[in-house]
Amino acid sequence: MSRKYEAKTDNRTYEALTEMLCDLCGRSNGRPRDNWAIDPYQIQEAEVSLIQGWSYPSSYVAKKWSIDICPECFKTKLMPWAEAQGATFREVNS
Ligand SMILES: [Zn+2]
Repeated sequence: MSRKYEAKTDNRTYEALTEMLCDLCGRSNGRPRDNWAIDPYQIQEAEVSLIQGWSYPSSYVAKKWSIDICPECFKTKLMPWAEAQGATFREVNS
């Protein structure tokens, strides 16, 4: 069996990520990526979310609430707030 391919122009309109903004301070990551890294080899990801729903063998129904938060706001705003509520952040090498 062989397959042949030819170039096709896709004329769909779709939402393409152009930048990510911190929901707390408004800072932009300045690029079409869903993380805060500046250097291509750097890792800077932050996520605050809640997913609630049901997962059955034949279906999945859930809602997700999330915010985008920059690493600085995570460390200077979210962490102190959560720690003031009694939380202790776990630090692990990944
Ligand atoms: Zn921020």
